[in-house]
Order: sequence, then C-alpha cells, then structure tokens
Amino acid sequence: MTLTLTPQELIRPEIRALSAYHVPDARGLIKLDAMENPYGWPEDMTAAWLETIRHAPLNRYPDPGATELKARLRQVMAIPAEAGLILGNGSDELIQLIVMAVAGSGRAILAPEPSFVMYRMIATFAGMEFVGVPLGQSDFSLDMTAMKEAMVRHRPAVVFLAYPNNPTGNRFAQEDVRETIASAPGLVVVDEAYFPFTDHNFMADVSAHGNLLVMRTVSKLGLAGLRLGLLVGANDWINEFEKLRLPYNINILTQLSAEFALSHWSVLEEQARRIRVDRNALLAELNKMNGITAYPSEANFILFRTPAGAAERLHAALREAGVLVKNLSAGVLRDCLRVTVGAAAENQAFVSALAAAL
Ligand code: PMP
Repeated sequence: MTLTLTPQELIRPEIRALSAYHVPDARGLIKLDAMENPYGWPEDMTAAWLETIRHAPLNRYPDPGATELKARLRQVMAIPAEAGLILGNGSDELIQLIVMAVAGSGRAILAPEPSFVMYRMIATFAGMEFVGVPLGQSDFSLDMTAMKEAMVRHRPAVVFLAYPNNPTGNRFAQEDVRETIASAPGLVVVDEAYFPFTDHNFMADVSAHGNLLVMRTVSKLGLAGLRLGLLVGANDWINEFEKLRLPYNINILTQLSAEFALSHWSVLEEQARRIRVDRNALLAELNKMNGITAYPSEANFILFRTPAGAAERLHAALREAGVLVKNLSAGVLRDCLRVTVGAAAENQAFVSALAAAL
C-alpha cells in the first residue's frame, strides 16, 4: 500500500497561505534595498581579522554561552550589569524565540503598522493572533489612544516597537514608548535595530521596567553577514528564553568575527557617523526634487513618497539604471519607496537615476 501525503493534508492552512520571504536578486546592482552598511574595513583591520579566525577550531562546537562575545557586547553597548543577555542568529531569531515562548491559544502579539514585517510573519508561524495598530497617517507617530484600546481589548502577550521604526524611519516619541511600557499587560520589546543612527535608546531603562526588553542587531553596523542579534532584559525573562535557544545558534566564525569587529568599535562608529551625515544630505536632496516627499529618518534609510501611481514605474526605472531600492507601495504606504543610505557615490547614482526617471 502506498501512502500519499500532500502538504494540503499536513501543513497548517495559515502556513500554506504564506509566501516565502522574497529577497530579490541584486547581482550587478547598487544595492540600496536592505539597510546594509556599504563600507568595508581598512586593509590592516581585515588582515588582523583573518589572523583571528585562522586557527578557529572548526572541528569543535562553538562556546554555547558565547562568553567572550557577550562580555564585549556588554562593554560596547553599555548593557546594565544586572540585566540578562541572550544572543540570536540575527534578531529575527530572537523575535521567533520570544514569540515561541508565549505562543498559545488566545494569545496575541501587537505592533504598530506599518512596521517590521517579521513581527506579523512570526506571530503567524506560531499560530498566534497578530494585532496591527495603524500609525498616525501624517507623521507615523504612535496613536496612543488606539494602542491603549487595542492593548485593553486583545491583552497582547508581547508588544513590538521598532525604535526607530522600519520602514518609516522615524523614532516614536519617548513618552509614548514609556506610556506603552507602563500600560502593556505583557512584555514590550523595543527593537533598536537602528540604534547606531540615533542618539536615543532604551538600554538604560531595562533595569527600571520589569516588562521591558531591548533588542538589537549588529547587522546595520556593517556585520549583516555574521547574523548576530541580542536581547537584554530582566534575568527572569532571559532565563526562560534560554531554554528555547538551540545550544549552538551562534557559530564559531560569528563569535570570533563579531568579538573582533566590536573590539574595533571606533571604526564601526565612524562608519555609522558617516552614514548619518550622508542620510541628512540625501534627505535634503530628495525633498528638493519635484513630486518627491521624503520623510525624516533616524535610521540608515529614507522612506519617500513618489507622485501618485508612479512607484512601480520608478522602482523599475531605478533598477534599469542599476539601482535596487525597496518598493513599499501598498495601503498607507501607497506610492512609497525606501532607499538605504549607501556610500556617497551610490547615493549620487541613485539621485541621478531618480531625477532622470521622474
Ligand atoms: N528589526 C528591525 C526593525 C529590522 O528592520 C530588521 C532588519 N531589517 C531586523 C530587526 C532584523 O535584523 P537581523 O535579523 O539582521 O538582526
């Protein structure tokens, strides 16, 4: 007897209804679609890094506790000594871990929208309800009345706040974040993926708020290829998440390379500073262009609105000209594209191509 089993029979309907996260082919293009840092390292730093990994014992499992890397992270990111720290294979994995830990029937995840799509996607993977609360239409600020109503109605186990927010680029008002932390019935994760590009963060607040977790990544610092994220919060929470973490989720090359890179903090910091300066210049240039409205950003990307109905065409024209940006044109982000701040020459190529296509 042959048993024929189809995905229709076995895979949950909400999973079958999804499409896999699409990453476009960027070969040969100026890649301004994924918030990467455009810069490499000085020659001597690269040579020293290669020396560091030359003798990495690839035949052994990595340190499951990533002891040295964690100590370095605590130092460079001023993580409060009394707070717990857990590492993930990118902060994506930490979102997954948090959601897995609270998943259950009748449980909800809440985030403002538009925001980072993984909050919704991972809630769906875990079979949870996702509540998206629309941001203010004109300035993408938190709508605190709607947030509080939604928290009362849905009692979310976790609220995710990207600070600054992706894809809008703005940073929510500090007092709104504080109010959310104070009125949330469960955890609040402040996702500081873009912390290198703003002066404001909630790292020092974790000790004061038992339900606050601060999440970061090294991806936007120029280390996206390493896949390393971190989550900071009260030990009572972090210890629970540790139970779900796969023992060797941070591989040895990532541990050694990240520890090395973070010990050259000033190089990373200088690159972030450069990106901030170029971001402000690019924002001003975009806003000078006819028909373009660029939104203020405290991240390493800029959201901009194109003339009505033009986003698709401009996205394609930019690609044709060799520049890849992200097309976000749907719903409240109708007509919007998002450009990552690249190196000066890349930004210039983008501006020229956009001006020619408008
Ligand atoms: N949070 C936010 C707000 C993001 O924009 C991103 C990446 N686009 C991430 C988390 C994930 O970062 P990573 O998995 O590279 O650490």
